[in-house]
Amino acid sequence: SSSALSPINTGGRGEEMKTQEEKSTQPMSDLHKIDPELIQRLAYDALVWSSIHGLVVGDKSVPRSGKVPGVGLVHAPIALLPLSFPESHWKQACEVSPIFNELIDRVSLDGEFLQDSLSRVRVCALLSGWNCRTKMVDAFTSRLMDIHSQMLENGKREEIRLGLHRSDYMLDEQTKLLLQIEINTISASFPGLGSLVSELHRSLLNQYKEQLGLDSRRIPRNAAVNGFAEALAKAWEEYSNPRCFPQLCNTYDVATIRKTLAEIDEQGVLQPDGTLLVGDQAIGVIYFRAGYAPTDYPSESEWRARLLMEQSSAIKCPSISYHLAGTKKIQQELAKPNVLERFLENKDDIAKIRKCFAGLWSLDDSDIVKDAIERPEFYVMKPQREGGGNNIYGDDVRKSLLRLQEEGTEENAAYILMQRIFPTIAPTYLMRDGICHKDHAMSELGIYGAYLRNKENVIMNEQCGYLMRTKVSSSNEGGVAAGFAVLDSVYLN
Ligand code: ADP
Ligand code: MG
Ligand code: MG
Repeated sequence: SSSALSPINTGGRGEEMKTQEEKSTQPMSDLHKIDPELIQRLAYDALVWSSIHGLVVGDKSVPRSGKVPGVGLVHAPIALLPLSFPESHWKQACEVSPIFNELIDRVSLDGEFLQDSLSRVRVCALLSGWNCRTKMVDAFTSRLMDIHSQMLENGKREEIRLGLHRSDYMLDEQTKLLLQIEINTISASFPGLGSLVSELHRSLLNQYKEQLGLDSRRIPRNAAVNGFAEALAKAWEEYSNPRCFPQLCNTYDVATIRKTLAEIDEQGVLQPDGTLLVGDQAIGVIYFRAGYAPTDYPSESEWRARLLMEQSSAIKCPSISYHLAGTKKIQQELAKPNVLERFLENKDDIAKIRKCFAGLWSLDDSDIVKDAIERPEFYVMKPQREGGGNNIYGDDVRKSLLRLQEEGTEENAAYILMQRIFPTIAPTYLMRDGICHKDHAMSELGIYGAYLRNKENVIMNEQCGYLMRTKVSSSNEGGVAAGFAVLDSVYLN
């Protein structure tokens, strides 16, 4: 198809007259033509496949779900069929993945850059008369920065660094540019389910080859979960080799434990040599599935746990520096002229990265703020938050900017402004809670990247797998867990 994000067509009645050869070279056409009966069969098979293969998530309607493991599960929200996506843009996104991995690593080593860039997010001076008070602009980011500055003061070095990232993109319909939405350096979600969705779609395309006339090989293999597991295992090896935990070396047979931050505070002990003990187990690698949102830290206990882990010699994915390097403020600072040059030498690499940058501005830019007040629909206003549902859109951008101007506080440092990207809107079959419905939707491509380094030795720097997320076009935000989007895969064209 020539259009950038055309919906997947599944042939149906319109295709019955065509030969097999015509079918396999057939561009994707209109989803409206699909036989509703075929959709029902596909939907049923998709539900069966999901149950059998563990393409499931917690079911919020079951009270014990999320409290008792294995209780209250439902199929993941999914798109019934993969999304047609141009191969050239796909390759572009894959190609920049190792460069972004390297960039995050370099940025993480520049403590001064992180502290300076985020300094105004942290506190502002309130002058009233002779009294100078400080006020937290963003208390959550401030706490993260406190841990970071404490590590800087102590001269803490992370020799082994592990990054499991997901860089997200939207394809701007008008300009046909692949533009980065953000890069996630903490708890990047769905490497596991994303891999499964690609398998599901491939299986449906094979099963209904005759009726759909689509080639399952055009859905790229998705090794996200394997890539992440390999990186974690290799990190563990790097950690344990000099320490000689012989019984586990060089295998994937690594013991894992899953704990809340509060449990780590309760059970974690730091030994004089930096080893973190939880119970009687020495911890080699810490992977964070939480810790990116203020609600993950309901008390001081969680903050103590975060600090304890940071002080330890365990490999943290992410370290506090990697976490801060993934903030929206840093994304905006990196987009300023000559900043990428501070971290990368290769001119081609710099050009490739810069090509992905959308317009990004701080709220100090008065021309942009003025324009955003006049034409708010062309901007997104973002605080330093993760997990979806935090951004400001449309008329709320204008209202928020006006409020900040009136109040004249420093709170504007907590936000960035970003060019709003408009991807193609296409009819899509979305499945949630066992029900398949058609809606207008737009998509966001996430590319997973794994990075592992021990001092000067880069052990792994790879693009590994992807995640397409598709959301109804009436929704601004795209969170899958938050209920806005579904998991999807890619059909290259
Ligand atoms: P989070 O870290 O909370 O995921 P994001 O920057 O990814 O924050 O924004 C959340 C969602 O908002 C994205 O998944 C996307 O759907 C939408 N969004 C973010 N930035 C833009 C943008 N510049 N243009 C259009 N939509 C955007
Ligand atoms: Mg994010
Ligand atoms: Mg996001």
